[in-house]
Amino acid sequence: MNSFTELHGHAPEGEWAAPGRVNLIGEHTDYNGGFVLPIALPQTCRAQARRRPDGLLRLWSAQGGGPVTELRVADLTPGEVPGWAAYPAAVVWALREAGYEVGGADLRLESDVPSGAGLSSSAALECVVAAAYNDLYGLGLSAPDLALIAQRAENAFVGVPCGIMDQMASMCCREGSALFLDSRDLTSRQVPIDLADAGLALLVIDTRVKHDLADGAYAALRAGCERAAALLGLPALRSLAPSDLPAALPRLPEDLRPLVRHVVTENARVETAVAHLDTGDLTALGPILTAGHASLRDDYRVSCRETDLAVEAALAVGAHGARMTGGGFGGSVIALVAAPEAARIAAEVTAAFHRAALTPPHILTATPAEGARRIVGSTKSRVVNAG
Ligand code: ADP
Ligand code: MG
Repeated sequence: MNSFTELHGHAPEGEWAAPGRVNLIGEHTDYNGGFVLPIALPQTCRAQARRRPDGLLRLWSAQGGGPVTELRVADLTPGEVPGWAAYPAAVVWALREAGYEVGGADLRLESDVPSGAGLSSSAALECVVAAAYNDLYGLGLSAPDLALIAQRAENAFVGVPCGIMDQMASMCCREGSALFLDSRDLTSRQVPIDLADAGLALLVIDTRVKHDLADGAYAALRAGCERAAALLGLPALRSLAPSDLPAALPRLPEDLRPLVRHVVTENARVETAVAHLDTGDLTALGPILTAGHASLRDDYRVSCRETDLAVEAALAVGAHGARMTGGGFGGSVIALVAAPEAARIAAEVTAAFHRAALTPPHILTATPAEGARRIVGSTKSRVVNAG
């Protein structure tokens, strides 16, 4: 009933996919020019697409609800497209803003990335549209260039002040690896991570809550970090090493000190985590995750009752480590567990939510999957070059 042909009256030219992500470690560091270490999820947003010669953008999403949304590409204006259609429209707008003379398209979108769970369904949606447009309009943009377009789309058109991690993860992650990304210059390295070989599994525990203060708090935290960097005479907090902290913190107002401490120690945790992955000691990630959670809870203060409960419950029943992932105030928790224990630990975490009279979480296991790619059309391989 809702096939591409039924929605748009002709066949698509191709189909693309872009994944959601979980960040292993490196939270709230990207907008401070720091390090992050995400993996792509097997869950993706898929786009079937066909160019249109008349400048119309016709959008339909299985998750969006409602009929086809029709917009005129030349008229796209930030803040003026309501609802979910703002995300794909934003990407087309951002491409044109960047000087690419792209036209209209028919799009059919369908995603199995949980929405609003801190797993970046929004970046998956943006990146699949960016990848489709890159191919259809022959733009030849690299994966990092498309990630920057998608981030600008979300920042300036949708109005969410996100950092670059989500879009870089969705565009650039490779199957079997984590993406060690330096947000300062977008250089990155694929770090192999074979959980199964190490006898491990990564649980993703979606707490299914998103507290209202999330958006405003994110912007305020970001502004606090920028103020701290300015007071210290630095371009970004990334420039501060852990050994600089004792001298730097007393120079800051008290309310900014814990923010700076989190960012600086979190960057160091990413580097330590990568060193462990490089030597194949995956179990050693556990305590780093748990330390990262304590820092988010106590210093950055973006945790909440549900994410704390998921972390504590997982640790209490044998997880090697656990932390909230994503921006905070709800969303998802990751837990590194022994593979044979995964089902038991998931059940115990669910039981802990029942005991606390909370809505039970959705729990899935994550394996590092492939970034944005064409899945139907001229080639089944990645179509965006790794840049
Ligand atoms: P997250 O990125 O963590 O999932 P966000 O709040 O950033 O959470 O993004 C969720 C929003 O993205 C949804 O409310 C919706 O507007 C949009 N979205 C994501 N995926 C889809 C989809 N497949 N169809 C329509 N809208 C989507
Ligand atoms: Mg998002």
